Amino acid sequence: MTKYVFVTGGVTSSLGKGIIAASLAKLLQERNFKVTIQKLDPYINVDPGTLNPYEHGECYVTDDGAETDLDLGHYERFLNTPTSQENNITTGRIYQTVINKEREGAYLGKTVQVIPHITDEIKRRVQLLAENGDYDIVLTEIGGTVGDIESLPYLEAMRQMRQELGAENCLSVHLTLIPYLSAAKELKTKPTQHSVKELLQAGIQPDILVCRTEHPLTKDIKKKLALFCNVDSKSVIEAIDASTIYDVPLLMLKEKLDVRVLKKLKLKTSNKPDLSAWKEFLGRLKNPTHEVKIGLIGKYNELPDAYKSIYESFIHAGAENECTVKVVPIHSELLEVSEISEKLKGLDGILVAPGFGERGIAGKIKAVSYVREQGIPFFGICLGMQCAVVEYARSVLKLKGAASTEVKPNSKNPVIDLMADQKDISKKGGTMRLGSYKCQLSKGSIAYKAYGKQEITERHRHRYEFHNDYRKAFKNSGMVVTGINPDRDLVEIVEIPEHPFFLAVQFHPELKSTVEKPHPLFVAFVKAALNHKLSS
Ligand code: GLN
Repeated sequence: MTKYVFVTGGVTSSLGKGIIAASLAKLLQERNFKVTIQKLDPYINVDPGTLNPYEHGECYVTDDGAETDLDLGHYERFLNTPTSQENNITTGRIYQTVINKEREGAYLGKTVQVIPHITDEIKRRVQLLAENGDYDIVLTEIGGTVGDIESLPYLEAMRQMRQELGAENCLSVHLTLIPYLSAAKELKTKPTQHSVKELLQAGIQPDILVCRTEHPLTKDIKKKLALFCNVDSKSVIEAIDASTIYDVPLLMLKEKLDVRVLKKLKLKTSNKPDLSAWKEFLGRLKNPTHEVKIGLIGKYNELPDAYKSIYESFIHAGAENECTVKVVPIHSELLEVSEISEKLKGLDGILVAPGFGERGIAGKIKAVSYVREQGIPFFGICLGMQCAVVEYARSVLKLKGAASTEVKPNSKNPVIDLMADQKDISKKGGTMRLGSYKCQLSKGSIAYKAYGKQEITERHRHRYEFHNDYRKAFKNSGMVVTGINPDRDLVEIVEIPEHPFFLAVQFHPELKSTVEKPHPLFVAFVKAALNHKLSS
């Protein structure tokens, strides 16, 4: 029978519930349990695909084409197993399902209410994941902070599941903050007491408290928390600030979070978690022999979460190369009005980021021009690739007015154009080319060498693509297509063989980089940046 672990957060947001959930799942996975993690988000959007990155950070895309919360990226990076549609549910989706059912007449004669209809749908979604995946343990992270109006139905669904299945099958882990008051030189437990009170009001007694803190928790503090919050003191877990999120599984191991969880779930395990591969990764991460500086040209740089997976992919690829990757965020709009050589000085490589809309495009194109001419390693992702194509069309092919029709709908030379099957789509939610598609690589290309094989699959999220009518002209003047989607003959990768490292991809490699499997293209790009640095 599948066991359930709910992770809630109290006191404040941004405590890192996703990282704690992913770390716990990692420890359980390494004890040979089959685990998955799900995120319940309390907002009304059906998915975060329609949210501005400034609002919610990056939109993470799964293999099956779900546009999801960025926490799913952490789950995949830690567990090295893919997530799916079912791993991210929003209040919008729950209500949409219930309202559609109501229209179909599924509740004829009944008043449709939050309890039981909405809570039943929440419970169904949590349990469906378990059924479909044959999991031993499903971890469910409830977004938001306990006490928020929006998350009440989730807490109620969790309370009902605990009542129906018993606490030994449905555990409550509560993550809180223990603030340090420097004037008093004291760690304070009161906010946690209040947060637990909120949970109790929703009918939930937490089984385990995970306490974020800047300073170690003394025995006395743990005892106090245990007494006031009605948990045993062994179940008060310290989560001290770490220098990297990748330390957290080891910190949780030391604090025996996994042991407490298994004990409370009455699950037996003989072996210890095998974290040797993880430790090797950390060893490489923390003992680099080199450092490279990569410029990240984007327009959402104020919020690093907007490029979360790119940052993490550089951490993985850096460790693989035993090289620290310093990512320097550069606002593309700033490049439009400044001296480019000044702004890009001292960088060993440039990545032009994904994005939407016209704002910042000119700066991105200017950056591509500069690195192409200067022989600086370049990596373009999605919009970054489209900018590289436009730049080449203008500067090398001398195509007048060459542009993406996303920016210039009546362009004379639409080298990037709306995909054929997008032309009749007017609805915005979930309608892009989304999810995993095959790509065939050309032998001898940078991509082929990096992957070491000819057929790959990568995830997509876009509406525009390389216009196939221009393929020959590009090839004849030095920019070649090295990856195509075999089913629809779509251009997925372009390269300039004459350049030391010029690679641009229509898909999102950053969504598939994990600790265990750093993404080959990021690894190759970091290596190229390092070679560039060492040779110049
Ligand atoms: N705006 C571009 C498109 O829709 C690129 C999207 C992206 O970078 N994810 O094709």
